[in-house]
Amino acid sequence: MRVLGIETSCDETAASVVALRDGGKPEILSNIVLSQIEEHAAFGGVVPEIAARAHVEALDGIVEVALADAGIDLSQIDAVAATAGPGLVGGLIVGLMTAKAIAAAAHKPMLAVNHLEGHALTARLTDGIDFPYLLLLVSGGHTQIVLVRGVGNYERWATTIDDALGEAFDKTAKMLGLPYPGGPNVEKAAAAGDATRFAFPRPMKGSAQPDFSFSGLKTAVRQAATAISPLSDQDVSDICASFQIAVTDALADRVKRALEGFLQRFPTHPKPVLVVAGGVAANRSIGSKLQELCSAHGFAFIAPPLNLCTDNAAMIAWAGIERLRAGLAGDDGFDFVPRSRWPLDTVSAPVIGSGR
Ligand code: ATP
Ligand code: MG
Ligand code: FE
Repeated sequence: MRVLGIETSCDETAASVVALRDGGKPEILSNIVLSQIEEHAAFGGVVPEIAARAHVEALDGIVEVALADAGIDLSQIDAVAATAGPGLVGGLIVGLMTAKAIAAAAHKPMLAVNHLEGHALTARLTDGIDFPYLLLLVSGGHTQIVLVRGVGNYERWATTIDDALGEAFDKTAKMLGLPYPGGPNVEKAAAAGDATRFAFPRPMKGSAQPDFSFSGLKTAVRQAATAISPLSDQDVSDICASFQIAVTDALADRVKRALEGFLQRFPTHPKPVLVVAGGVAANRSIGSKLQELCSAHGFAFIAPPLNLCTDNAAMIAWAGIERLRAGLAGDDGFDFVPRSRWPLDTVSAPVIGSGR
């Protein structure tokens, strides 16, 4: 089975072909990602209108390259899968309409895929893990802990009540005059900083509620930054280091709670797994803390390669394969309207044999 995947929900224009042979391991035949980072950098964040236009300009060519790289033409794919939400609606329209046109012209099934389901199932593409497992999704737009029970079967255990974690990094960078995207630049600056200089809050730490919060931390960073004028490079590094240790600590507390919840729910699970996805997974301070937490709780920690953790179309093609394999015929995708909001726990579960 070969599926062409298309991803346009945010600021990456991406297309990919993923193959699964009977009884074999999945294979990524091509994985093309065009990032729009440079187009948005001047504005310090993603501008929806610019993103949508950039997708229109790039997508046709990206799909052609993905097929050429895979060494196949449209007659050799079994279905087209495209991100249909959640995300910026302009980009979603471009990707979904393009996918529908390709699927209709090639007489192939059309699958409307939830972007978060793509992130959630990636570890099965890369590491072949079994259900159930825990997913920590930390990106510019999402901060969630999800129990992945099966294809189309997700329980959201925690989400952010204000900013996403990547967004907190990006806003911190902006306040300190560091370039966009903020995450990597904050991490770089933090490496030369004193993490004990500022005692930033750890929002939600110890809370009985499972969720995340980062806006209080952002306010504390702003207060620290405006209290010093002018800010020296060392001040910036110290703020970054203090911020990074605070978010790592706050995140770890929430993840620990979830790991314990998983063990309570599945006390006899032979091999509990925590999977991480999203661009913030690139952060080494966060990664090593998660690794440490997992070891302490008897969990395996899986961090797929970074190019599959951040937005890409291979995860969308793979989600398409998973859904087809689970019995969802995929013809319903032709009627699907893009959804800017589409919580993962409302995704339809495939009903074997009915095609819907
Ligand atoms: P979505 O939320 O829809 O998946 P996105 O484009 O925001 O979309 P990603 O591309 O997965 O998500 O991740 C980008 C985010 O990851 C940005 O907020 C960026 O600052 C953050 N990020 C990248 N590298 C690092 C790092 N080393 N440390 C912390 N954050 C990072
Ligand atoms: Mg992105
Ligand atoms: Fe994403």
